[in-house]
Amino acid sequence: MLKKLLSVFLFLFLIFIILTLYFIDKEYILCPIEYKEQLLIRNDRMGSGAFGALRAGNRLHEGIDLYALIGTDVKAASFGLVVEAGFHKRLGYYVELRHPGGLSTIYGHLSNILVKPGSWIRQGSIIGYVGKTGNARYPAIQPHLHFEIRKDGIPIDPIKVLEGR
Ligand SMILES: [Zn+2]
Repeated sequence: MLKKLLSVFLFLFLIFIILTLYFIDKEYILCPIEYKEQLLIRNDRMGSGAFGALRAGNRLHEGIDLYALIGTDVKAASFGLVVEAGFHKRLGYYVELRHPGGLSTIYGHLSNILVKPGSWIRQGSIIGYVGKTGNARYPAIQPHLHFEIRKDGIPIDPIKVLEGR
């Protein structure tokens, strides 16, 4: 009897742990760069790193530029699948993760990539390091992580997501 109760308890406990892990990762989006106080957006004479800022050719900035020194850890904002990890003319070395709920995140201008397409990544694990690749390579541009969040493929302002958590 006691043994049976114990196994039922263990079973329920396991369910509880699984549900908790599942919801912990879905609850909020983690800032991919760790800041001591508040997050810093790149702002130099080459432009603003804000979402929607104007870029060459009337293009709008589809993410935010999180100021960070070269070599800083870049962390997965949420649990997800690596769908892209490679080089892009504009983004340089970049990673794209697909998350549950139609969300995806993009991390650009990396110096190094630590993950491969097809891998599942836990929230907070290091996927690469800040660099100056792609169109962030110009000396006048402050080192930063280009970070995008897309909902059903449409870019949304990451600041709103990060502040609204
Ligand atoms: Zn950017």
